[in-house]
Amino acid sequence: MTQSVCILGVTGSIGQSTLKVLAQHPDKYSIYAITAHSRIQKLVEICKQFKPKRVVVPDEHIDQLRQLLLQAGLADIDILSGTTGLVSVAQDEAVDVVMAAIVGAAGLLPTLAAVKAGKRVLLANKEALVMSGNIMMQAARDHQALLLPVDSEHNAIFQSLPSNYLTLENTGQPQLGVSRILLTASGGPFLDYPLEQLSEVTPQQACKHPNWSMGQKISVDSATLMNKGLELIEASHLFSISEHFVTVVVHPQSIIHSMVQYIDGSTLAQMGNPDMCTPIAHALAWPDRLQTHVPALDLFTHTHLDFREPDTNKFPALNLARQAMRAGGLSPCILNAANEIAVDAFLKLQIKFTVIPEVIEHVLNHVQNDTAVNIEQVLETDMIARQIAHQYVNQIRG
Ligand code: NDP
Ligand code: MG
Repeated sequence: MTQSVCILGVTGSIGQSTLKVLAQHPDKYSIYAITAHSRIQKLVEICKQFKPKRVVVPDEHIDQLRQLLLQAGLADIDILSGTTGLVSVAQDEAVDVVMAAIVGAAGLLPTLAAVKAGKRVLLANKEALVMSGNIMMQAARDHQALLLPVDSEHNAIFQSLPSNYLTLENTGQPQLGVSRILLTASGGPFLDYPLEQLSEVTPQQACKHPNWSMGQKISVDSATLMNKGLELIEASHLFSISEHFVTVVVHPQSIIHSMVQYIDGSTLAQMGNPDMCTPIAHALAWPDRLQTHVPALDLFTHTHLDFREPDTNKFPALNLARQAMRAGGLSPCILNAANEIAVDAFLKLQIKFTVIPEVIEHVLNHVQNDTAVNIEQVLETDMIARQIAHQYVNQIRG
């Protein structure tokens, strides 16, 4: 029997890497449902190769997709649309594994639906967890979902922790002899850029990551270090540990993907060539292992591994995220919404790179924080934070 897989965000960078891993193991996995947002032609090519049963696109692309599938002789593929369609495939009874690889808040409801349906959920869409925090984690416990990290750092931490760590009660304290998590960061493309020149960097420069090839939004997040801020929050939730026990370590080579320290003085690290197929394969097969095309690490070609502290003066986004996590409640949701709007405005050349953290700080100071009791409240706060962020961006643009 093969495992039936749903890939939310199949046309993106993580979606493509997931297909690459799955294509190597047709005896173990079959693709049941896939979703796309704007790259419809690419979706059709994927349909030709993998023949899914169901696809989801936004309402406005249904006619075009139907036409293209008909021409390709694939008229029997079921077409669904919008958030309802995404939620429907994520919780579909026929699905065993859901890859949550939509970027940003748009992935929240389908990811939560997969968790509530008790699936094995491979979490790439960190924004969904940052926004919903305890609600998502509690849903995973209530519905016996396996919420497994695909983010390379969190996957590395998961691999370096005791194997039953994910099932522990949330105490906020490190448990089972763990003392600290070391979350590694590449530092992004502007690691050694002078602060004075940072305001003039372009979206093209920001999206050129030294070690990883990723979607635009996460590439800009890596450049501002907000990606590490979101990951700090993600780690706190996934591993039930206060942010205070998570130290960010800049490691420009991206060979060590993160570490866990223990009370006896041990530090365990997961290492490998920077390729997302490794954490994807790990989360797919855990506790087993899957063959990938990723070559074993050749340490004779990586003779230097460097480590340094992050420069939070140059990259204030990291501290904003830490403060938001400390404040708790809906603060991480507000932070995430403001960041999504600010990154989008930067990509559209509406604001400068250095204004991104300014927008986030403004929104954090102007949206009421509260304890989130349900997902409707999370969505409402997300919407308000986006409005305030838009207003601020428009004000700056004059
Ligand atoms: P991409 O931008 O490459 O892909 C995003 C995917 O989401 C695409 O399939 C896109 O569809 C779809 N999408 C975009 N907007 C919407 C929307 N409003 N509704 C439904 N679907 C939408 O991003 P990545 O693959 O790089 O990242 C995906 C997630 O994984 C992000 O949360 C990121 O932080 C996380 N991640 C990524 C890593 C990486 O190496 N890329 C590493 C670790 C985490 P379309 O392309 O058709 O428009
Ligand atoms: Mg990461």
